[in-house]
Amino acid sequence: MPRLVIATRNDHKVAEIQAMLGSGFECESLRQYPAAPQAVEDGDTFADNARKKAATLAAWFSEKNSGIPAVDWVLADDSGLEVDALNGAPGVHSARFAALDAPGNAPDADNNAKLLRLLAGVPPARRTARFRCVLVVLPIARRQAVDQLQAAADLEFTVFEGVCEGIILEAARGQHGFGYDPLFVPAGQAKTFAELGDEIKNRISHRSRALELARKTLVKVLPG
Ligand code: IMP
Repeated sequence: MPRLVIATRNDHKVAEIQAMLGSGFECESLRQYPAAPQAVEDGDTFADNARKKAATLAAWFSEKNSGIPAVDWVLADDSGLEVDALNGAPGVHSARFAALDAPGNAPDADNNAKLLRLLAGVPPARRTARFRCVLVVLPIARRQAVDQLQAAADLEFTVFEGVCEGIILEAARGQHGFGYDPLFVPAGQAKTFAELGDEIKNRISHRSRALELARKTLVKVLPG
């Protein structure tokens, strides 16, 4: 069975990805590898950051840790919110929108407050936005069997991208989820992601759409 290490220490995200990819894949959290390096997410695009995360890890697993038996592939994601009235901001800066000049991420509440402040007075019709998620899968070179080399080459240049369109409200609603969920109403829904809850969100979210694209390719190129 293909084994993928997911480039995150967030077990919730790993569980979500495992559920989405199904039992034909074995997903591992980076928490099992405390010494694994963390890439600096300073790219201009989500794809840049996802590639950087995946490449940093794939190099670490293949060069520094040839004794680690389990992992063959690295899967990394990057995601965020793009608001049209803000020319696509916060974009790649979504996690640290309220602390752009400081190291580290900002609390969700601060990011949401900044977003509402910047959109004050913008009418509902112009509050369009989207969540975007980009996934990258890279091989860990030392463990490729010969028959997986073509699959590795195919995947190396593939970016899986999912988008969820919606609008930004004028005040937060709902308790579920994280990040900008309480402000975001996906297209075709009357409730925010934070009101809809995980089950519905996971059916329509940017992340689930990107994962579904990745799953369709992975079942073809990484047969168990
Ligand atoms: P990451 O890709 O998990 O690092 O997420 C980057 C940031 O984008 C998060 O900290 C959130 O601010 C925002 N974000 C990404 N996906 C979501 C989502 O599904 N709901 C709400 N906020 C999100």
